[in-house]
Amino acid sequence: MTLTPPEAKAAEAAQDLNPAAAAGEAPSALFPNYSRYPLALVKGHGSWLWDDKGNRYLDFMSGIAVTNLGHAPEKVKEKLKQQLDQLWHVSNLYQLPLQEQAAKLLTKHSVLDAAFFCNSGAEANEAAIKLARRYFQKIKGEERFEIITFHQSFHGRTLATLTATGQDKVKEGFLPLPAGFKTVPLHDEAALKAAIGPNTAAIMLEMVQAEGGIHAAKPEFVQMITELCKEHGLLLIIDEVQTGMGRTGKWFAHQHYGIQPDIITVAKGIASGFPAGAMLGKAYLREAFSAGSHGSTFGGTPLATSAIIATLEVMEEDQLPERAAKMGAYLKEKLEEKLSGLSFVKEIRGMGLLVGIECGGPVGELILAGQQNKLLFINAGPNVIRLLPNLYVSHEEIDQAVDTLYNVIRAYEEAQGKGEA
Ligand SMILES: *Cc1c(COP(=O)(O)O)cnc(C)c1O
Repeated sequence: MTLTPPEAKAAEAAQDLNPAAAAGEAPSALFPNYSRYPLALVKGHGSWLWDDKGNRYLDFMSGIAVTNLGHAPEKVKEKLKQQLDQLWHVSNLYQLPLQEQAAKLLTKHSVLDAAFFCNSGAEANEAAIKLARRYFQKIKGEERFEIITFHQSFHGRTLATLTATGQDKVKEGFLPLPAGFKTVPLHDEAALKAAIGPNTAAIMLEMVQAEGGIHAAKPEFVQMITELCKEHGLLLIIDEVQTGMGRTGKWFAHQHYGIQPDIITVAKGIASGFPAGAMLGKAYLREAFSAGSHGSTFGGTPLATSAIIATLEVMEEDQLPERAAKMGAYLKEKLEEKLSGLSFVKEIRGMGLLVGIECGGPVGELILAGQQNKLLFINAGPNVIRLLPNLYVSHEEIDQAVDTLYNVIRAYEEAQGKGEA
């Protein structure tokens, strides 16, 4: 018998896993960790994107709440161009006046007092977790480290933040997970109370679970959380990575609830697409991050902070949070008017321009049909359509998107009906 060389065996096994390779195409040079739509987008302006064949798409997903000012916003582009000519990067070992300016703008619009800059949402949450632990262990001299989070939450993909995330699918195959996290069902008062113990440091939540299906936290439950934090001396961390930067109709979603978090985290929409994140905390937490305790090579560089400053200045000038509230109300009204008669549509919900349409089954085919009809949107969980237009979206663009959604869902219902008959 002939033995197969190990390389041939490995190639065979790889073909089994990779349909492109099996079809005789050259294998991708990338890890297959993203399930990618068959679209290559090469140009963007405002609410519109163009693919490599010249087709134009109306963008109702904004890079998942990143391009909040639309694609290539003029003022941010100009500021970045100036900064490209002047200085790209210096270390955080030096004074960075632009970082100070970006921090002042961020804290001005929140009840928080100090900022730490990083490059992503996961890093911002990682910083929040580290700050909470260090505050208790170094400042208060208490052995507290545990963070309580909620089922269906999403907090990122680093080992600590995926452990904090309340969804099993992001944890599969990554054991062992770091210790010090507990996850309880959202809106379950008894479970939350039972989870609090002598080692609890903080409760961390999203005001609207976005990846988890567009579920807003109920105000009574949030009120109860703030009371529990007070009673047990816990820190309240709000993950505003997707809900922040004006999207929900206020600068930060927790401002709808009239609460005072100790820490908030932001990223996605903070710099119009330039990679950046920030963790903001109250003044009494400042000393917990003493010199040398935490850091990031790229966090808050001149390029990143100029993009943040320009984004924030434009948001102020054009009162974009207010605009998001107004246009979000219009979007919801239009969706109710056009879609509520469709039997596949179960519920329309959300806050500002973070909108979910709960459907009677998986929405994957609708997303593809939307793309064929030149409208880009995504899902939030299997059965929920997620709409995230930029904050400058016009009435006409909303009308057009809602019409397309109606046509796509109608056609899907008809095809399903025929399939059953
Ligand atoms: C996207 C997201 C994160 C993770 O942000 P990354 O920049 O991908 O690391 C964390 N929390 C929430 C709520 C998010 O939506």
